[in-house]
Amino acid sequence: PGAFLSVRDLYVRFGTEDGVVKAVDGLSFDLERGSTLGIVGESGSGKSVTNLAVLGLHDPRHTEIAGEILLDGQELTGAGERTLERLRGNKMAMIFQDPLTALSPYYTVGRQIAEPYRKHTGASRREAHRRAVEMLDKVGIPNPRLRAEDYPHQFSGGMRQRAMIAMALVCNPDLLIADEPTTALDVTVQAQILDLLRDLQQEFGSAIVLITHDLGVVAETADDILVMYAGRAVERGSVREVLREPRHPYTWGLLNSMPSLTSDPDEELTPIPGTPPSLLAPPPGCPFHPRCAHTAEVGGNRCSGERPLLPEGRGAACHLTPEQKRRLRTGGATGL
Ligand code: SF4
Ligand code: MG
Repeated sequence: PGAFLSVRDLYVRFGTEDGVVKAVDGLSFDLERGSTLGIVGESGSGKSVTNLAVLGLHDPRHTEIAGEILLDGQELTGAGERTLERLRGNKMAMIFQDPLTALSPYYTVGRQIAEPYRKHTGASRREAHRRAVEMLDKVGIPNPRLRAEDYPHQFSGGMRQRAMIAMALVCNPDLLIADEPTTALDVTVQAQILDLLRDLQQEFGSAIVLITHDLGVVAETADDILVMYAGRAVERGSVREVLREPRHPYTWGLLNSMPSLTSDPDEELTPIPGTPPSLLAPPPGCPFHPRCAHTAEVGGNRCSGERPLLPEGRGAACHLTPEQKRRLRTGGATGL
């Protein structure tokens, strides 16, 4: 028996006026029920596209998908729109960065939470409304019975995010995909929302894919990390393993460019030089080689000529030897 969510050799390409974008280029990962996978990378690394593919939300006229996405044993890549429609909301749900993309301004918050519940369970209007109020209460909205009658614009940003979480969880989905769920929020509210997600996961036992550019969010929330770069996974492991002993120069760069988790105010942050590559023409070999400071250590033209593979389980896609990695690694998370 495979994992609850199993993605195998996923390729996602889409056509643009300028050519074919290789948004996801051979990605594999597994996720078990009740656990959280943090997918980390800069924008344009393929992390959001991967999850739109899982949800079947890409535009099929312009997108080509190859590989396998198995949710609880069911193949999703070839599934029809009706099947996906039934799965979305019921078995899998999504939380976006901006709740206003998910919430309609024209209906009350309560109605928008009740609607998917009615649709997927066949519950009566009354029952669905009761359920919506219960969900608003669960996500920490005070006076849920009254607030259910409000429109989204009457809610603060943090409360809208809570309402969207209530909407996503109302059918008790087995898989929750959260794409930058706290990026738009201030730090305090961000921490509250992450706490809320953790609590709800305990209660509902959902598997969560948490997509973020912020390693701090992953450290707080996830069990495992997948680091993506240019449409590929470049490192994976448990949160503890990856933050304590990161093995890929790109992960080193991410760690050096974020405030440390122990938040030393005098610490110097070093941004990763250069910019992520165009996915119209990704660099050959290791996609990180144009920005990597360690290609000389590897020697020859190996970094630009030979694609490093990511091993199964804990590991990184990089040609450096374990010995070289130990010696070269600088910075990173401390105090874990
Ligand atoms: Fe850097 Fe080479 Fe490792 Fe890629 S394979 S991360 S270019 S050292
Ligand atoms: Mg994104």
